[in-house]
Amino acid sequence: MSTIKQPRGIDDGRLTTVDVQGRSIGNRKSTIENSAARYLVGGVNSPVRAFRHVGGDPLLLVGGRGATVTDTDGHEFVDFIMGWGCLILGHRPAPVVRALQQGIRRGVLTGLTHPLEIELARLICEAAPSVEQVRFTASGTEACMTAVKIARAHTGRSKILMFDGCYHGHSDSVMALRSAGIPGLTVQETLSVPFNDPTALEEAVRAHARELACVIIEPVAANMGVVIPESGYLAMLRELTSRHGVLLIFDEVVTGFRVGYGGAQGLFGMRPDLTTFGKIIGGGLPVGAVGGARQLMQRLAPEGDVYHGGTFAGHPLTMASGAATLQALRAHPPYERIDALAERLEAGLLDGARAAEVPVVVNRLGSMLTLFFTERPVRSLADAKASQRERFARWAQVLRRQGILIPPSPFEALFVSAAHRAADVERFAAASHAAMALIAEGAH
Ligand code: PMP
Repeated sequence: MSTIKQPRGIDDGRLTTVDVQGRSIGNRKSTIENSAARYLVGGVNSPVRAFRHVGGDPLLLVGGRGATVTDTDGHEFVDFIMGWGCLILGHRPAPVVRALQQGIRRGVLTGLTHPLEIELARLICEAAPSVEQVRFTASGTEACMTAVKIARAHTGRSKILMFDGCYHGHSDSVMALRSAGIPGLTVQETLSVPFNDPTALEEAVRAHARELACVIIEPVAANMGVVIPESGYLAMLRELTSRHGVLLIFDEVVTGFRVGYGGAQGLFGMRPDLTTFGKIIGGGLPVGAVGGARQLMQRLAPEGDVYHGGTFAGHPLTMASGAATLQALRAHPPYERIDALAERLEAGLLDGARAAEVPVVVNRLGSMLTLFFTERPVRSLADAKASQRERFARWAQVLRRQGILIPPSPFEALFVSAAHRAADVERFAAASHAAMALIAEGAH
């Protein structure tokens, strides 16, 4: 008998392991875990999923419904990862499921332009005031890579400036200071300054004004945990970049359609030159997009000389689930309700920590938040790194045992979705209360 096994039975939330002939060989989680480490590097396809930041076995999830996910043993968790922010409507929302079913019936891929690409592009342009045209990509990484390329072509300059702790995918330019395998010349073209430090920003832009193609920023950072821009910081960045002819790229892969239907630019009343999107606009399927004023976007082939293309760019199923998601968000905006739920969660987490006398800071904007084990405000990567990560690991482990799933890293955002109910938030707060008491005792 072949040793190849496949998970089945996802719909009922239970995983049955079957051999290649489809015969059940039982529910053997350890077999799957061993196979994961054997066939996948580190057992995963994206490093954070390995749980190295918090310890414990990586979870293998087979599916989700509403606010709940199910692991290979049939255990259920209230999910606050929510597809790393993609699933603002929760798992398997009816409009998305319907759109995908219709999409599959039509045929998965045509290879030419599909009408739904136009529909999703229109929805994005109508939502983001700075965006007149978009180009879809297959990931947020590609969207940011393409935005930087447009900026370099448009300005004829090669340097880029980013911010410590912001993440824009893993293309060479934006990973230059954080990954091996990147040419020295690319490293030299990448500058980085601390988030929320206007002086460092102004100095860097002034010193390199003639060489800088763009500044790329997460307008609300989500990849060092949630870090909120201080009052006037983004406006100062806009003014500074305009003055020096440097393009401003807002990476709204997380914030787009999350902090409001108009994203961070709508919330703060800003007009970046280029915007990147991802996550929510695909409704849980692989996606990215870059958008901006027509004149800038026309740099892209076939109109212009910046090449971007892709077999999966504008994939019909992604367009179907993305358009269904945005239409649902527009018809029934969930923002007030999920922001209020997240506010309640914040209050509950702070109460539990206070009762146990464990110092914490919660950074929250709308429905995204991070709890840091620290006494000081968290305004930058250095502040986030100064938090007590062992305490975070302990917190995550105790929560997991109580059926609450949070991102397995202190440098990620938790997401509340439209599928969460007050009871989910109360359950999280109660579990956290208990976890804080254990942390205060130093118990393991
Ligand atoms: N930008 C931001 C702000 C992100 O959070 C991410 C992914 N978490 C990306 C870009 C890259 O997107 P993807 O994982 O789809 O390549």
